[in-house]
Amino acid sequence: MICPNCQAPIAHVNVEPIPIQFGLKPFRGVAYTCPECSAILSVQPDPGAVQNALLQALAQAPRPS
Ligand SMILES: [Zn+2]
Repeated sequence: MICPNCQAPIAHVNVEPIPIQFGLKPFRGVAYTCPECSAILSVQPDPGAVQNALLQALAQAPRPS
């Protein structure tokens, strides 16, 4: 993989926590950055935060009786 910003070959990426604003709801996310120039290569929601939000939504959903 080559960094699209500084063209350095990337052997690994750094991971930094970054908040993602999803509507009015802030969401925990992670940014994958280039170790050479710190350019953000990708941002993803924190897998744990996604799971918690899903479990909360399921708990609040109306159940068929
Ligand atoms: Zn770079």
